[in-house]
Amino acid sequence: MKKMIEELQELLSIPSPIGYTDEAVDYLKKAFEELDYPITDLKKGSFYATIPGKVEEGLLLGAHVDTLGAMVRELKSNGRIKAIPLGGMPWSGVEGENLQIHTRDKKRYTGTLMPIKSSVHIHGDDVRKLERTTDSVEIRIDEDVSSKEDLEKLGISIGDIVSFSPRTQLTDSGYIKSRYLDDKSCCIILLHLARRIKEEGITPRKTLHLYFSIYEELGHGLYGIPEKVDELISVDIGCVGEGQSSTEKTVTIFAKDGKSPYDYNLVTQLTSLAKEKEIPYVIDVIEFYGSDATAALSQGRDLRVACLGPGVESTHHYERTHEDALKATMDLLHAFIQ
Ligand SMILES: [Zn+2]
Repeated sequence: MKKMIEELQELLSIPSPIGYTDEAVDYLKKAFEELDYPITDLKKGSFYATIPGKVEEGLLLGAHVDTLGAMVRELKSNGRIKAIPLGGMPWSGVEGENLQIHTRDKKRYTGTLMPIKSSVHIHGDDVRKLERTTDSVEIRIDEDVSSKEDLEKLGISIGDIVSFSPRTQLTDSGYIKSRYLDDKSCCIILLHLARRIKEEGITPRKTLHLYFSIYEELGHGLYGIPEKVDELISVDIGCVGEGQSSTEKTVTIFAKDGKSPYDYNLVTQLTSLAKEKEIPYVIDVIEFYGSDATAALSQGRDLRVACLGPGVESTHHYERTHEDALKATMDLLHAFIQ
């Protein structure tokens, strides 16, 4: 578990907003190369590693490397920057958060996401009343800038990528607080599943493809699915909160998301297995949610699909989960592939 948490911290520290994922993909790829599993690169930037199983029919387990972020939309005349969100990110979720701007010539500038009216001493009650929208928040960069030209001189341009600090913290009680546990926690679970398979000399019951997608947050993450795959499981976060059964200490098995119910028999198989192995799990239905698996269904592929993952609180905000949820997810996958 210790190594898994260390690697999770490393992956969380690599910025990977949607459309800017190369470095995080390379980190994972290198880890799989060290394990000596064959890797297939896909043109759009994803990859999958393959572990031969007892039969050729394939099981694909997928997690996504892409996270929320933003993009430079406008260089403002006052030296501030207007941004647009990448993915379903509420501005209130990153207010006051430190960030980096990644320019096309590989410079990085630090800054902070601020509302245009931030100081109570200047704006009084307006600070509380201001609705946070793309027009009412801006980036304050940590450079001497007071005009659009100043920003241009630094090499900052429209279309530059903005990544927010994950602000990862571990607690003695086993909680992990960070942005982007969605879905980097599951990427690391898949990596450690591969390690366990190697260490324990397991031959999976089906050929296993561990797939790392990079456009999940926009709904076109899975493509180039190997032909023999007939079962597909998205390993993605469960959502903890009002009205949900998910918890930060259990693995969530989805019965349905906002797009589709998951395969009834596959969900039953997973829940029976969790019960048999005494793995803490819950079944949940999450409405404002779509996974890579339900997105793959809309491509017309003939697949049985499921989605499962650790319960995470305050998703798409400053998230939190517990080591127990990562362990439960890992244990269920470990049992399922055999
Ligand atoms: Zn996700």
